[in-house]
Amino acid sequence: MSDCIFCKIINKEIPSTAVYEDDKVYAFKDINPVAPVHVLIVPKQHISNINEVDESNSSYLIDIHMAAKKIAADLGIKDSGFRLINNCGADGGQTVFHLHYHLIGGKNLGPNLL
Ligand code: 5GP
Ligand code: ZN
Repeated sequence: MSDCIFCKIINKEIPSTAVYEDDKVYAFKDINPVAPVHVLIVPKQHISNINEVDESNSSYLIDIHMAAKKIAADLGIKDSGFRLINNCGADGGQTVFHLHYHLIGGKNLGPNLL
């Protein structure tokens, strides 16, 4: 998608701080972190959000989870714990319409989701 900011980041048209990359997934530091660790994990294929996940692209969800585990290990927060968040649609707080998961940690986040 030519007007998608995360596609531009994946294509290196917009700079980002890479944390992890393979042939399916790219992960980079969030520009506005809410915790000591705040990484965005995105599929390299443009998928707007969970509502666009189907049989043809659902394997990306596993790829993203596997990447999350590797990134958490690399950043030293795998055993202490972390949170993986997806915002879907307007009421879900989604602002960038390229599927992404927030990997957040590096401190005790507590039990409250909101
Ligand atoms: P959403 O609200 O859609 O779940 O999250 C979008 C996230 O993308 C936000 O946390 C925001 O800080 C981050 N973000 C938006 N634009 C950029 C950008 O150009 N670079 C980076 N690294 N993060 C961005
Ligand atoms: Zn995109």
